[in-house]
Amino acid sequence: SGGLFSRLRRGLQRTGSGIGQLFLGRKQIDADLLEELETLLLMADVGVEATTRIIDDLTDRLKRNQLTDIEALQHALREDMRSILEPVSQPLTIPAGDKPFVILTVGVNGAGKTTTIGKLAERFKSEGHSVVLAAGDTFRAAAVEQLQAWGERTGTPVISQPTGADAASVVYDAHQAALARGATVLIADTAGRLHTQGNLMEELRKIARVLGKQDEASPHEVLLVLDAGVGQNALAQAEQFSQAAPVSGIAMTKLDGTAKGGIVFALAQRFGVPVRFIGIGEGVDDLRPFDAEAFVDALLA
Ligand code: GDP
Repeated sequence: SGGLFSRLRRGLQRTGSGIGQLFLGRKQIDADLLEELETLLLMADVGVEATTRIIDDLTDRLKRNQLTDIEALQHALREDMRSILEPVSQPLTIPAGDKPFVILTVGVNGAGKTTTIGKLAERFKSEGHSVVLAAGDTFRAAAVEQLQAWGERTGTPVISQPTGADAASVVYDAHQAALARGATVLIADTAGRLHTQGNLMEELRKIARVLGKQDEASPHEVLLVLDAGVGQNALAQAEQFSQAAPVSGIAMTKLDGTAKGGIVFALAQRFGVPVRFIGIGEGVDDLRPFDAEAFVDALLA
């Protein structure tokens, strides 16, 4: 929709405006254009691997006289950027059935985990799902309170226990509650403690164990929440969380306020993990399913 486009466009303006401007008023492809483009891509945190892939392809096409004017170059750039993102452009679909679809969220504190859970609850409810939230970050009282606030805002039950409780036990309770209510989606928060990765891994294993006792396939999605604003650091986080848990999807937050939106390309090129959603604001509606074409168009518009 136009709304989506303008919202995303506004968000990505900082990342992509330099690239769009690079072509303004130019008619011919001069020698240093690709070099300038390379610099802009790197500055937008597209990363060395994805940037090299793009620049190599454009250089190749230039040499073979396939790019006769600026328009052709822009078209090729768009194609190259899309081809990096298309493999990870896989929306999260909740299968029909009577079992709750279980989403475990992981990510460092401050990445936007709680906010994303709240937005997801609203989204799934608007799609007709019945949602239950599990306050699995039992480490911080604030995390539980924050999730409860989102539960109130979105009219979603939040299952919690006092701070310090066993996270797996909270998730187990929440799963029971979801079953009892006939809920179709259960979203569990977890404590993202990277510096104690061993503990995180153990905690996630334990959660998976209690869930697996009731449904072998559960959790159905391990969603890693990453703040786009941290740029290349997001790669390190993706690496570390992938070692601790079977990350099956990414939610990239704060794309509305960063010049580092290119990090999505770097992630796609390096890990190939599906990017499920993007966050483009603090509001309950500011979450969008990731779409490669819309993303590139907004970036280069
Ligand atoms: P958590 O510690 O990972 O649970 O992070 P929070 O959900 O508490 O989010 C941390 C801060 O980032 C809060 O102030 C959120 O409002 C903000 N935030 C989360 N997602 C977005 C987003 O997509 N855009 C913007 N601008 N802010 C966001």
